Amino acid sequence: MENKIIYLDNNATTAVAPEVFEAMKPYFCERYGNPSSIHRFGGSVAADIENARRQVASLIGASYRDKDGNAAEIIFTSCGTESDNAAINAALQAKPERKKIVTTAVEHPAVLHFCEELVRKGYQVELIGVDGQGRLDMEALKKAVDSDTAIVSAMWGNNETGTLFPVKDIAAIAHEAGAYFHSDAVQAAGKVKIDVDECNIDFLSISGHKLHAPKGVGALYVRRGILFTPLIFGGHQERGRRGGTENVTSVIGLGKACEIAEKSLDEEYRYLSGLRDEFEQKLLKTIPRIRINGDLEHRLPGTSSVSFECIEGESILMLLDVFGICASSGSACTTGSLEPSHVLRAMCIPYSAAHGTIRFSLSRYNNKEELDFVAEKLPPIIARLREISPYWEEKQ
Ligand code: PLP
Repeated sequence: MENKIIYLDNNATTAVAPEVFEAMKPYFCERYGNPSSIHRFGGSVAADIENARRQVASLIGASYRDKDGNAAEIIFTSCGTESDNAAINAALQAKPERKKIVTTAVEHPAVLHFCEELVRKGYQVELIGVDGQGRLDMEALKKAVDSDTAIVSAMWGNNETGTLFPVKDIAAIAHEAGAYFHSDAVQAAGKVKIDVDECNIDFLSISGHKLHAPKGVGALYVRRGILFTPLIFGGHQERGRRGGTENVTSVIGLGKACEIAEKSLDEEYRYLSGLRDEFEQKLLKTIPRIRINGDLEHRLPGTSSVSFECIEGESILMLLDVFGICASSGSACTTGSLEPSHVLRAMCIPYSAAHGTIRFSLSRYNNKEELDFVAEKLPPIIARLREISPYWEEKQ
């Protein structure tokens, strides 16, 4: 186990699955035609893109097919961030008389920072808070959503704690006020069952690199019938809804990754949650003063957010790194900042615990041996750091 990388940072990014890589290969040097070309060489690639679109649609329960049998509700994008921005932008364009966006205090910066920009442009943004387990304040949500609300945006599963939001109920609240509902499912897609039809979702964001497809590709589901104004104007690609020649290789990869995820969803859920629960139990038994963050009943299967009181998360990460163990403190995008993450702050996790929070995020490529190794290395690391922590003494 020594000298081996133990990668427990799968919410930051995942390895491309070997089957996905194989599916992509022909599209680099052999089948490199432009899907928009008239000739057959390009046209056959266009057909393969439509197949990838159906694979994505199938994973998220988007059952609509147009007269040609295509899953026209899926738009390929460059990443989850673009999908989030494009969804909110489209809703505001479709309901120009409404000037309000309701979202949550624990969204990813892909939503929150875009909303900050919208505030600068004159829109009103209301952030709904969460409780100590990261559960959304549904009463506050009901009060906030009104006839001026164009869109409600709430993530499916949180990237830091894994907490799942009751998206179907949130969508119903949005629709009652005549607003659209968008869900950022970047972390949830491929890990928990998603059914956009059943849950009445209007917009849903996905990112390739979180589910064993490459970086730099994403998808946005847009319910049919919604007037969609693109974020990126250009050629007629993606039925005129997203300009720019498609990232063909990655789109094929995303389709394949979705197909694999759909087939193994239940089995992988059981596998990952089993590994994670056993790991957490070991830590709870061997390390005093720790807490597991999030809604433990409704969580993404492979996410474990653990707060170790009175020490710095960065120091833990550095000592784990010595053993080749990769994890993360807060979300990847906020690493480098010493402030506890906005998610933990919104949950009112005390500072002494929030500072020492590590996110372990698992994938199908992790195994029990690896997690046992991490669970064995952690207690002496934590004890050593607490020995030199002034806060630990104060607390005794
Ligand atoms: N939304 C969530 C919940 C995420 O976790 C991330 C990435 O960490 C994103 C959006 C952004 O996705 P991408 O890296 O594809 O832009």
